[in-house]
Amino acid sequence: MSAIDALPPLREVIATHGLSAKKALGQNFLLDLNLTAKIARQAGDLSQCDVLEIGPGPGGLTRGLLSEGARRVLAVEKDARCLPALEQIAAAYPGRLEVINGDALQIDPLAHLTPPIRIAANLPYNIGTELLVRWLTPPVWPPVWQSLTLMFQREVADRIVAAPGSKAYGRLAVLAQWRCEARIVMSLPPAAFTPPPKVASAVVHLTALPAPRFPADPGVLSRVVAMAFNQRRKMLRAALKGLSPEVEDMLHAAGIAPTERAEQVSLEQFCALAREVAARR
Ligand code: SAM
Repeated sequence: MSAIDALPPLREVIATHGLSAKKALGQNFLLDLNLTAKIARQAGDLSQCDVLEIGPGPGGLTRGLLSEGARRVLAVEKDARCLPALEQIAAAYPGRLEVINGDALQIDPLAHLTPPIRIAANLPYNIGTELLVRWLTPPVWPPVWQSLTLMFQREVADRIVAAPGSKAYGRLAVLAQWRCEARIVMSLPPAAFTPPPKVASAVVHLTALPAPRFPADPGVLSRVVAMAFNQRRKMLRAALKGLSPEVEDMLHAAGIAPTERAEQVSLEQFCALAREVAARR
């Protein structure tokens, strides 16, 4: 296998800088640079883009993104132990890598980037869903980013791309598919990581659509969907009782039988229901 850059192999980087993995930080590292370059390629043509990476760790994916030609990478890492390794990468790619030592939940790194922007990350499992929901629910659409290429636990990836009628279908599927094209582009076994996690992982690629698939107020849609799936086993007329005394009328007007369960309701129907709710406020 050919080296993707002239930097030391990642096992050596980890040994040199004492980067033993911390479970509390969701540290499952990718050490195969051919694999990280492959993930970077899933993000599309990066040559004209600024890329935001959350959780670079020892820098495997960072090196993939840079070797695949990213114009610039901004990496946000909470673990200060990783900074010397990341500085070495920055020196090898002058002017193209900036690292912020901080918590991705506390800062808004997107403000530091110049469009076009893509986001790529092997996310720490404990904050992955929260970050995704934030990226999917900005105040205006289209968002500042063009695409998200994100590693999740397989079960979360399945929830993002799930279709109505499946067990995995829920709030995450509706939020993601309403305004994005979402696909699973790679599956990875636990053995691809060091240390190996308990479960399989998958990379999801989401492309922002220029406009939502169906009109709806984002706040209302989000509230309706959260309520509907909070009690997913109940019929909608019961699960959504708190919305309004007219909930059965609203469901009928949206073309949904009040006896249906959230799992059966399509994205188009949820949007129609959100419009009914908004119109009767
Ligand atoms: N990108 C590296 C790779 O693929 O080998 C590391 C991925 S590892 C799954 C997740 C990384 O996110 C770790 O480096 C961890 O320290 C970092 N991290 C965890 N919580 C974070 C947070 N709140 N903000 C920024 N980085 C975080």
